[in-house]
Amino acid sequence: MTCQEIRELIHAYLDGEIDLVRSLEIERHLPDCQVCASVVQNLQTLRSAITRDSLYHRAPPDLRQRVQAVVRQSNRAESKPRFASLWFASGRWLGVGISAAAVAVLLLALIPAWLRSSADEPIAKEAISAHVRSLMADHLTDVASSDRHTVKPWFNGRLDFSPPVTDLTERGFPLIGGRLDYLDNRPVAALVYRRQQHFINLFIWPSAQPSSKAAVNPVTQQGFHLFRWTAIEMHFLAVSDLNERELKEFVGLIHDQLTPTATP
Ligand SMILES: [Zn+2]
Repeated sequence: MTCQEIRELIHAYLDGEIDLVRSLEIERHLPDCQVCASVVQNLQTLRSAITRDSLYHRAPPDLRQRVQAVVRQSNRAESKPRFASLWFASGRWLGVGISAAAVAVLLLALIPAWLRSSADEPIAKEAISAHVRSLMADHLTDVASSDRHTVKPWFNGRLDFSPPVTDLTERGFPLIGGRLDYLDNRPVAALVYRRQQHFINLFIWPSAQPSSKAAVNPVTQQGFHLFRWTAIEMHFLAVSDLNERELKEFVGLIHDQLTPTATP
């Protein structure tokens, strides 16, 4: 099984929904593949965070009554009850201890993330693929150096722009090197940084927009975090399996180095 096939089955695998043979294949793959293993680990961490008791609150009785009233009403209005109504009406959602408030909180929490990720989806998917490929294919860097005065000139003549190269060793994100990659239908610079055992790919390519936009939207997909922003007429996209907080710190440091006077 390839990493790609495993990645497609991972949710079903964690839900115990795939057959024994494939499940064993995945379990044989994980100890040998750091990338897939970290995807599984990230998903497990996310799952345990979501199911923590502290996120569950009992709905106040009047909210419960209002929800039930709405459900009854819509059941009457529709001759063919939809799945959601059936689910609510069956009472199973009460049985498993998910209160209406928790459902509402979850929906509120999930919808904006989903909207954000769908807006950025094609480029996010490409960036994750490029990131995973760089780790799997033993092709993390074309120029392996922690010296930005070595890495930056390496791109000369290989790209039609000069990417800014920042060293963040003193801030806990050592530069590992750089490589050419392909994203958004064009060759891009990929700078590689490390945080403990996690690698960060920072993709840089020119932007058509002259404006410097400090907006940084995090996207989480397949256990990877992505931040994308525009500054000094360039697109920046950072992707890693590093936790979102530390990746955000990295993005903040890069952004500060590029535009020291800007207030994000
Ligand atoms: Zn793999």
